[in-house]
Amino acid sequence: MNYLKYKKDIKKKEIKWCLGCGNYSILIQLAKILEKLKINKNEIVLVSGIGCSSRLPYYINTYGIHGIHGRPFSIATGIKISNPNLNVWVITGDGDSFSIGTNNFLHTIRRDIDLNILIFNNEVYSLTKGQKSITNKKNKYRPFNTISLILSSGSTFVARTLDNYPNHLQKILIYANKHIGTSCIEIYQNCPIYNKNFFKKFNKKNIIFLENNKPLIFGNKRGIKLDGQIPKIVNLNNKYNSINDLWIHNYKNIYKSYILSNFKNINNKLPTPFGIFYKKQIHKIKKKKIIKKKKKINLYKILKKNYYEII
Ligand code: SF4
Ligand SMILES: [Mg+2]
Repeated sequence: MNYLKYKKDIKKKEIKWCLGCGNYSILIQLAKILEKLKINKNEIVLVSGIGCSSRLPYYINTYGIHGIHGRPFSIATGIKISNPNLNVWVITGDGDSFSIGTNNFLHTIRRDIDLNILIFNNEVYSLTKGQKSITNKKNKYRPFNTISLILSSGSTFVARTLDNYPNHLQKILIYANKHIGTSCIEIYQNCPIYNKNFFKKFNKKNIIFLENNKPLIFGNKRGIKLDGQIPKIVNLNNKYNSINDLWIHNYKNIYKSYILSNFKNINNKLPTPFGIFYKKQIHKIKKKKIIKKKKKINLYKILKKNYYEII
C-alpha cells in the first residue's frame, strides 16, 4: 500500500505548501502510520476545512474531502455515523478549529464519536497572510488555552506533539487512532513564512515529554514535584532531591491534566508539556455496523412505472 502521492506531486509542483513548512512532516508521519497499521486505503477518509493545513487530503492516496471553513467536524461526523467501519480523520488548523469552527469543534468533542482530529497550530492565519491567530500570545486579546478548552469540553483523548519530532508525532497518532472516541491532537506546526520564531522558543531544556506512569523529568536533570497543587521545578543534581518525590504522570487523572495544561499560566519557567494529557476510554468495542448490500437498482423499471415531469 502506498499512501504517499507526495513525491510524485512535489516533482510535478502540485503541492502548494512553501518549502520548509511543517505540514510536510505531518503528511509523511500520517502516511507512515497508516501504512504501519495496515488500514485499507478504501476505508480511510480525511476531511479538512480551510487553511494551509487543509490541503493535506489532496496529497495522500485515500478518500478525502476538502470541506468548508470551520465545518470539517460536522462533515466527518456525518461520514462516521453513516458508515462506522470507516477510519475518519479531521485535518484542521488553529483558525479553522478555534476561530470560525469553535462551536462545531467543541460540540463534536462532546459527542465523542470515533474520530481523530489533528489540529495544526502555527499560531497564525497563514492562508490569509499571517494574522496572529486566537492561539497566539501576541494577539490583541488573551489567547485560548487550547488543551484546557478541549479538556473542559469533555474530551476523552487530548494530546500535543510537534512536527519536528517525527517519532513522537507518529507515536501519538497511533495512540489516537487506537482510542475509541474523539481523539484531539494539537500539533505545533512550523510556518517559516509568517511565524518563523514560534519554534525557536522550544529547546530540550524547556519542553517535557509526558509518559504515563513515569516521573516528570526534563532538560538537564530537572524534575517536577507537586507542592500541594503547585508544580515546582527541582534540580536532580542536588543530593537532597530524589526522583522518588517527583510527580508521576497519570493520564487518567483529569485534575492533574488541567494543571499540566496550565503550566505556563502558573509559572512561565515551567516547561511546555507534550504527550498525552488525558485519556479515558468510555466505549468498549468498536461498533461495526454490518452494511447490507443494497439491491441493484433497475433504472429502466423505475422509469417505466412512474411518470416524471421535468419543469
Ligand atoms: S504559509 Fe506557512 S503554513 Fe502555509 S504553506 Fe507556507 S509555510 Fe506552510
Ligand atoms: Mg494557523
